[in-house]
Amino acid sequence: MTASPIGRFAPSPTHHLHLGSLTTAVASYCHIKSLGGKWLVRIEDIDFERCKDSYASSILYDLEALGLHWDAEVIYQSARRAIYEDFLHNELANVSYACHCSRKQLDAYRTAHAVQHALNSPVVYPRLCLHRQLDKAHKDSKIRLQLPNVATAFVDGLQGVVWDNPAISLGDVVLKRQNQMINYILACTIDDGLQNISHIMRGLDIMPMTVAQLQLLDMCQLPKPSYFYHLPLLYNPDGQKLSKQNLATPIDTSRPNELLLQALALLGQKINPQLYDASCHEILSFAIEHWDNKPLQHKSSLGVVHT
Ligand code: GLU
Repeated sequence: MTASPIGRFAPSPTHHLHLGSLTTAVASYCHIKSLGGKWLVRIEDIDFERCKDSYASSILYDLEALGLHWDAEVIYQSARRAIYEDFLHNELANVSYACHCSRKQLDAYRTAHAVQHALNSPVVYPRLCLHRQLDKAHKDSKIRLQLPNVATAFVDGLQGVVWDNPAISLGDVVLKRQNQMINYILACTIDDGLQNISHIMRGLDIMPMTVAQLQLLDMCQLPKPSYFYHLPLLYNPDGQKLSKQNLATPIDTSRPNELLLQALALLGQKINPQLYDASCHEILSFAIEHWDNKPLQHKSSLGVVHT
């Protein structure tokens, strides 16, 4: 365990907070506080096509209204491009390559190799540009990471031992797109390392990225988080994960204490009847004192909510 545990909540401001992202915020906050740690908020607004400043402000407003106060200045990925570029040019220069394959070309390649996919092999980038030594600065270049072909395991505090070989499950992921956009995997990994995050508690949907992120941290020579906890997700009645993409209803923080209690109940946490008249501060203090990971272990769903 590191001297001072550091957790984080890292929303992408592509929409307002919804009940699903709220449970992640509440869980990561209460869990790290129960360990006596610090909770950071990082706005993952690197995707300039989908993120909006107004959503970032609304997320921060809602967190404050709920009494989820962060312990250091909020960082915005949109202001950190130079840092990510620096890693691409230095630590990652020899493990990344330029790729000019368009989606159309890849589709054609995949159609021609349909037999392989019939065998259920995942559709990963077929490394057509790996040895072409293309210029990374060329206008058609996207930058891919050459992931090592190794299976690695990590222990997830909620899901148990997770094995993965991301060279097979993800393939050579794109770190920087042709339109110059830095992708989530690079920005998030570098920031977790630079912010010395020791405990990552986030949605189960991101778990397939974790081994690749651990490998990327190694390549960037950055410290790795000691603990991962991938939280079960909330679903809508159609069986879809509650998300910004399927337009989950934004939370309404006009009655913040009720909302906190709803999130804690969904997270399977103990709730004392006296809390129904309590302030956010009192509810959070109780939740921190009684925080328990057990109701979240080995589960993929927190249940179904009507949004
Ligand atoms: N930015 C991601 C999201 O909003 C979360 C990333 C993470 O927690 O690693 O879904």
